[in-house]
Amino acid sequence: MKNTVFKTFLLTSVFISFVFVSVAQEKPLKLRPDAFPPKPESTDSKVVAMAGSVEEMSGWNRYPTYETYLAMMQSWAERFPEHCRVDTIGTSVQGRLILCMHIEGERDVDLYRPQFFYSSTMHGDEVTGFVMMLRLIDTLLNGYGNNQQYTDLINSVDIYINPLSNPDGTYRGGNSTVRNAIRYNANYVDLNRNYPDPFGTEPMNPQQQENTAMINYVGKHHFRLSANLHGGAEVMNYPWDSYSSYENPHPYSEWWIEVCKRFVDTSRTYSSSHFRDTYNSGYIAGGDWYVISNGRQDYMNYYHNCREMTMEISSDKMLSSDKLPEYWRFLQHSLVNYIAEIHTIDNSTEGIVEAGSQIAVYPNPTSDMVFIGEEPANPVTVYDMQGRVVIKMPAGVRIVDFKTLPKGVYILRTGAHSAKIIRR
Ligand SMILES: [Zn+2]
Repeated sequence: MKNTVFKTFLLTSVFISFVFVSVAQEKPLKLRPDAFPPKPESTDSKVVAMAGSVEEMSGWNRYPTYETYLAMMQSWAERFPEHCRVDTIGTSVQGRLILCMHIEGERDVDLYRPQFFYSSTMHGDEVTGFVMMLRLIDTLLNGYGNNQQYTDLINSVDIYINPLSNPDGTYRGGNSTVRNAIRYNANYVDLNRNYPDPFGTEPMNPQQQENTAMINYVGKHHFRLSANLHGGAEVMNYPWDSYSSYENPHPYSEWWIEVCKRFVDTSRTYSSSHFRDTYNSGYIAGGDWYVISNGRQDYMNYYHNCREMTMEISSDKMLSSDKLPEYWRFLQHSLVNYIAEIHTIDNSTEGIVEAGSQIAVYPNPTSDMVFIGEEPANPVTVYDMQGRVVIKMPAGVRIVDFKTLPKGVYILRTGAHSAKIIRR
């Protein structure tokens, strides 16, 4: 199916490719349906019913208008003040709000809860996840105190859900419809090719304000497990995206495969036809599907020690709205259970995930200078944990000065080598 999709895509878009080739990222080597703008899916034959009020969302078979979306978030905050709070992650280029629902359990209990993060629809036209996330918020909040599984989950995990991270793309056709949604933000930038990269590759475009806001928000938290949701395929995509598993397997690949299997198996018990359009297993290491640079998944894994995966949850990027309940039925238990997977992370493996081969540096920790063990053949870049470049040095330089940097953890990279450095 993958090859068929790929060939069909290649043939139908060969002319479009010429238009985009001059602005395309250096990779991908291969393309996935989600990777690159194929011809827009026609929404003409679809039912794209919109809900102009919170009440009209009650059947979950419509897409919310932008105002309805804001009203839903507001109404949960008012109805469940003990258990949720709406955070503003930031604003989009056109000034729309990027919101996050923080769901929390009993506040009086002084108990460590690991932080979990769901984030959907950074590609504005991949709207299934947007509605699934809204429905998940509704289900969890209404389940607290009524459903033991949800109550236990909320009491044991700090849950953050960002239903829509690219509102300008989704409401490209105006706030009252998603029908003319596009993949990109208002500057026509792909937000999933716009994050700091494990390679240190500079994104093709300046960092977009949607992503700057997200990076700042993520930097203020310590998410241990997360997922970003997409459409255009049905497959669980686990790290890395920047490397094939042959080049550089993710250190927790075995864990990822178990998590993916449980997700796919659970969804298939509710509908056996799903998660089959790309790989029969329903999951793949991202870079084995095809390699991308500057994506969010690897950014989260590499710079934040957060286990993030990419969930491609519907073959159709924009489902007919009357199909949304069916997708919820087969996804809801998997989506809930994925949050609980945070308890399967062995915290003794806590540590910053590095990629590529290690390069020797000393002394480490350091209070001022660091010497690189062998003369670097490539420029040297040092990142802070928000993924910001804090030091840049030319190739050949072996001494790096950390004196002026605040205390903390940094990643030094040169070529395919990296080192974690503690500035004390
Ligand atoms: Zn996508």
